[in-house]
Amino acid sequence: MTRTLLENSRIYQNRDFITGHTLIIEDGKITAIQPADTVIPSDTDTRINAHNAYALPGFIDLHIHGSNGFDTMDATPEAIQGLCDYLVTQGVTGFLPTTMSDTTADITSAVDTLNDFATRPHTPYLGIHLEGPYLNTEHRGSQPDTHLRPPNPDEYLCWFETGQVKLITLAPELTGGHTLLQHCVQHNITPALGHSGATYAQTHEAVIAGLRQITHTFNGMRGIHHREPGAFVAGFENPDVTFQLITDGVHIHPAMVNMVVKLVGIERVAVITDAMRAAGLADGEYELGDVHVTVKDGEARTAQGGLAGSTLTMPNALRNVMTFCDLTLAEAMPMLTEVPAKSIGMYPQKGILQAGADADIVLWQDDVQTTLISGEVVYQQTDFAPA
Ligand SMILES: [Zn+2]
Repeated sequence: MTRTLLENSRIYQNRDFITGHTLIIEDGKITAIQPADTVIPSDTDTRINAHNAYALPGFIDLHIHGSNGFDTMDATPEAIQGLCDYLVTQGVTGFLPTTMSDTTADITSAVDTLNDFATRPHTPYLGIHLEGPYLNTEHRGSQPDTHLRPPNPDEYLCWFETGQVKLITLAPELTGGHTLLQHCVQHNITPALGHSGATYAQTHEAVIAGLRQITHTFNGMRGIHHREPGAFVAGFENPDVTFQLITDGVHIHPAMVNMVVKLVGIERVAVITDAMRAAGLADGEYELGDVHVTVKDGEARTAQGGLAGSTLTMPNALRNVMTFCDLTLAEAMPMLTEVPAKSIGMYPQKGILQAGADADIVLWQDDVQTTLISGEVVYQQTDFAPA
């Protein structure tokens, strides 16, 4: 059988790095991580010399609308492929293209395009994140008012039955919110609270009904108040709840990022970009779903001045969270890999480097040098040539 040997890397293992080992890939999976002197290469092996780069599990972004000129709501195979092609350059081996609140027809069109996409090999596409349309108008952020509505099973069950939806952001306090939570549980879809005015008590009730995540924590929700602790504190008290954090330093103050990470622990934080079409591009005028957005100094805002997604990339999100929380690369790693994978039921197939896992790997030396998906090199920085 053809093997790929990843040699001379510092392999991420259990919040640390090990050296002197070879990572062996067969049929798209990691089959072993062995001391290098016990591996006897054969002529048919493909050998990748990592030149002492870090070998990390590929990054997993649960919340990303678009990048590099493409948006999930473009709903064309070209746009989704364009997004995939860009994301692998950023070390992303798994992402959930994220929809905006829109008409039934436009969301269905995005879901259908992504459903067709599911069988393409060696892409980072993992499934869909539906952000809305069942959101609270009072906490809508840049989600368009006209497209927000209470949950309607006739509508969402069609999307759920494609099997592609992995995550949905919803406001559990809306009429029909708990029925929606039950349907999420039945369909193995992770429900996340976001663009919601849920109180502390309502959030606790939602967790009992199946809620498992807080979307872009502190954005599009109540803040913490000493007489109404809100969704964050209720989530903190429930160990099954994971917190998405946008670590661009704009959506949440770095001190708040540090507080959340220290308070709930790294094992409950998923770093996300919430990136929109302009990520990877220059400042200018862009569309985010149905919403017109101006990007200036990397900040994406609507005409009313509200934040409308970020221009963040996962490598920058990683560097920022390390700085904001004073973490080493190994300490920060679970928040971009293991935690997001676990939160959508894809661990340990994804998010870890161990025998049996998909060979989704990033070679990192201050930045992404090489990206592998299922053992295939899908991106190679040009000035970093393997031996
Ligand atoms: Zn949002």
